Amino acid sequence: MTRAHDILRIVRHVYGGNGPLPLHAPVFAGNERAYVESTIESTFVSSVGEYVDQFERMLVALTGAQHVIATTNGTTALHMALLLADVEPGDLVITQSLSFVATANAIAHASAVPAFVDVDLATLGMSPDALRAFLERECERTNGSVRHRASGRRVAACVPMHSFGFPCRIDEIAEVCEAWRIALVEDAAEALGSWRGTRHCGTTGRLGTLSFNGNKVCTTGGGGAIMTNDPAIAKRAKHLTTTAKVPHRWRFEHDAIGYNFRLPNLNAALGCAQLEQLDDFLRFKRALAQRYRAAFTASDIPFVAEPEGTRANYWLCAILLRNEAERDACLEVTNNAGVMTRPAWEPLHTLPMFAQSPRGPLDVTAHVSARLVNIPSGVRTEATT
Ligand SMILES: *Cc1c(COP(=O)(O)O)cnc(C)c1O
Repeated sequence: MTRAHDILRIVRHVYGGNGPLPLHAPVFAGNERAYVESTIESTFVSSVGEYVDQFERMLVALTGAQHVIATTNGTTALHMALLLADVEPGDLVITQSLSFVATANAIAHASAVPAFVDVDLATLGMSPDALRAFLERECERTNGSVRHRASGRRVAACVPMHSFGFPCRIDEIAEVCEAWRIALVEDAAEALGSWRGTRHCGTTGRLGTLSFNGNKVCTTGGGGAIMTNDPAIAKRAKHLTTTAKVPHRWRFEHDAIGYNFRLPNLNAALGCAQLEQLDDFLRFKRALAQRYRAAFTASDIPFVAEPEGTRANYWLCAILLRNEAERDACLEVTNNAGVMTRPAWEPLHTLPMFAQSPRGPLDVTAHVSARLVNIPSGVRTEATT
C-alpha cells in the first residue's frame, strides 16, 4: 500500500459512501425552493426586491460587520473594495501569491499591479513578517505616500487572503498597514464563518469581501459581498455598485461612472435560505475536520488544522504530502477512484499575466503549492452517501 492508497482509504472511511465524492457540492436542504419561487411569483427576480436587503441584514448579524453590500460575485466585490480604498491606476497592491486567481485579477481590474509576498506555514495566509520585510526592503515613504523603489509605483493597499477559511494573522498585518498607512482590504471569499478571536474574517480591514460562488460554504449561485464598518464607504459602495443612480421615482440621473455589480434578488433569495443553515453547515464541517484530523494524524499524514486562537470554517480540508511526486500520486489515485481532490493553486507569480509583478521571497508559497491537497469537505446529505 502506498501513501496515496492510505489517503484514499482514510477519506472513504471518514467521509463515508462508495459513490463519487465531490470536493464541495452545495446542499439545498432548507427554504431555497420556497424563497426562489416567491421571487418568480412576485416577478422581482432582478435588481429590485426584498431578499437583497434581507441577505445583507443577515450577513451583518452573522459577521458583526456594520455594513454589508451584496454584489454579483466575489471578484466584483474585491474590485469595488479596492476602488473604495482609493486604489488608483498604476498603483501597487501587495497580496499573496498563494491565492485563487480572482485576488490578483481584481487588483488588475482596478488598473493596479499586484506585488506578491509569502504566506505563513501555520495559517497559509499572508505572513505579516513577509509583508514588513517587503516594505522595509523595497519601499520608502515619500511625502505622505509609500513608493515601491524599483517600479516607482505608489503602494496603495494590502490584500491578505484567508486561505481555505483558515484565518491569517490579520491583527499583525493590520499593525504593519497602519504603521505604513496602507489601506487594508481583506479577501475573505473563503472565510464565511471563520473567526480570529472575537472578529470575523474580513472585518478587521477598512474593507473585506466575501464570495457566494457555488463551491463556497454558502452559495447564491454566483454572488459576493463587501463588508465595512465605515458608513461613508458603505454608502458609496451601494451607490457605485448600482450604476451611481441619483434616487428618483422616474428620472435616470447618474453622478459617476457606476457599475452594475448589484446581486439580483433571485440569487439573494437562494442566499437567505443558505445563510439560515450556516450554523448547521459549520457544525458538520468542523466535526468532519476533527475526524479527518484524528485519522490522518494516526497515519502520520499532516492534516492542516486551524491556527491557534482561531475558529476556522474548514471550507476545504487539506493535507500536506512529503513532496510533489507524492502529491501527484495522491491526486491520481484518489481522482481515479472517484474521490475528488485538488492541488493548491499554481502560485500567482508564475502565471503569465503576473510574471512581471514585483515579489518578495516566496519559499513557503512554493513549499505549500507543491505539497498541499484539498480533500472532500462539503456537507454530506442523503444524496451524497
Ligand atoms: C472564490 C474566491 C473569490 C471570488 O470568486 P467569485 O467566483 O468571483 O465569487 C476571490 N478570491 C478567492 C481567494 C476565492 O477563493
